[in-house]
Amino acid sequence: MNQATLTPHRLESGRPIRLADLATEGKQFHPDREAAEAEFRSLRDELSDWQERLYAEGRPKLLVVLQAMDAGGKDGTIRNVFKGVNPQGIQVTSFKVPSKEELAHDFLWRIHKAMPGNGMIGVFNRSHYEDVLVVRVHHLVPEAVWRPRYEQINHFEQLLAETGTTILKFYLHISREEQRQRFQARLDDPTKHWKFSFEDLEKRKLWDDYMAAIEEMLNQTTTPWAPWHVIPADQKWYRNLAVTRAIVQSLRDLNPQYPPPEKDLTGLIVE
Ligand code: AMP
Ligand code: MG
Repeated sequence: MNQATLTPHRLESGRPIRLADLATEGKQFHPDREAAEAEFRSLRDELSDWQERLYAEGRPKLLVVLQAMDAGGKDGTIRNVFKGVNPQGIQVTSFKVPSKEELAHDFLWRIHKAMPGNGMIGVFNRSHYEDVLVVRVHHLVPEAVWRPRYEQINHFEQLLAETGTTILKFYLHISREEQRQRFQARLDDPTKHWKFSFEDLEKRKLWDDYMAAIEEMLNQTTTPWAPWHVIPADQKWYRNLAVTRAIVQSLRDLNPQYPPPEKDLTGLIVE
């Protein structure tokens, strides 16, 4: 498959989108769920191979950023896509409400500390983008503070890209109705109650404000060095496939290699 087929949901810098025009249904992009699941499993194995090469080469770094509305599938994506990858090569960070210490610094301080080092894959469950989303919608800081953050983020990500980090950003796009169903499923299943929070319902009431904030985030921070992908995420099987395809495509482009041995090892026998 060529690149365009593997990354149909990648946004292009300088071509603003309207979020309402972008699909939340994955079905229309893949007619056959079983075939999609088979392709997903095979790409997941490929991802695991690439991770080992990345680690072995020990220089490039990959960062995967996941943003979504509550119940949008960030946890499930991480669980499914990275299943099978050596845990030693992956570093997952979940960003919560900032601590007092974090709030005493600039908003990128905690993010920079969590960046993957050489040969590592970093996965962000939420990210610095909360600082132009929840912070904006709930008026946690004035516009004069959050608006300049788009540019600050672009510069920060440019620094990371120029120093060897490949950045892939995913917005998992679910419909309002899909969120309703997932919240209800959490309520109906006692083993999922821990995932439910009343705050989620308050945020749900502000759905339209969130959509406006997300749309602007996507348009302001899609850059050639750190593109957003808007993944149709109502169907988990398509979401998993689409995210994995984009990650594998990047690793193929990056093409990390096993390093050559320090000396020629031919004929060497261990006694
Ligand atoms: P969860 O992902 O369900 O564990 O929830 C984490 C919570 O932390 C969410 O409600 C986020 O909106 C919130 N959060 C994450 N980052 C920030 C931030 N920079 N400022 C305020 N709230 C945040
Ligand atoms: Mg939550």
